[in-house]
Amino acid sequence: MRENGLLIVLSGFSGSGKGTIMKELLSRYPEQYALSISATTRQPRAGEAEGREYFFKTKEEFLRMIEQDELLEYAQYVDNYYGTPKAYVREQLKARKNVILEIEIQGALKIREQFPETLLLFVTPPSAEILKDRLAGRGTETKEVIHSRLARAVEEADGCEVYDYLVVNDDLDACVEEVHHIILSERSRMARRLDTIEEIKNQLKQYVKGEEI
Ligand code: ADP
Ligand code: 5GP
Repeated sequence: MRENGLLIVLSGFSGSGKGTIMKELLSRYPEQYALSISATTRQPRAGEAEGREYFFKTKEEFLRMIEQDELLEYAQYVDNYYGTPKAYVREQLKARKNVILEIEIQGALKIREQFPETLLLFVTPPSAEILKDRLAGRGTETKEVIHSRLARAVEEADGCEVYDYLVVNDDLDACVEEVHHIILSERSRMARRLDTIEEIKNQLKQYVKGEEI
């Protein structure tokens, strides 16, 4: 049973509920998941804390992280940089946690290039109207930024067929359980469990060679 944890990307339109789903997943199953905290150049929103939602960086600091090869991937999203620090993801996978990266689509594609076994999940609200209402209801962005984010959502809708699963975030509770069950099922895929079967096969061979049962 030597497998590492599973690397999971959770993407979705801005306002689709990724952050809310992640918080709920972590509070229900704290032993099984680790959430990667990204670095970003965007300003903190009210209620966000350094090192909890993001590591907030100046553009110069962010560019230095790129130069020093500290990021697994990074991307630009509506005028800001966002990137995934390497060290934490590596540690947590080794500790057999399912590590979730809540990142946008360009970053997801870069992660899949480096780690082809990554599970890609895409979250959508049930309709565009609900998306707009949730983004506006969150009350954290100006009208202009909301407009840019909805425009970006149109582009993302064109790219999301490369993802493995689409999850509709209508009822939050049902959505969190659906995400959890998809992840559990993926961990049991035969192709991901070959180490386990190899180990059991080797034990069986020992018995067959004449050791006591
Ligand atoms: P994202 O991280 O994808 O940008 P958030 O998690 O910030 O989205 O959610 C956007 C807004 O929608 C928040 O105000 C959140 O409370 C609300 N929200 C999330 N999921 C649901 C849901 N299933 N039903 C109703 N409101 C939701
Ligand atoms: P927000 O500003 O709403 O927190 O995030 C904007 C977008 O950036 C979201 O789609 C979010 O998933 C994405 N994002 C957050 N962190 C990262 C990251 O480390 N890398 C990439 N590529 N995207 C990220």
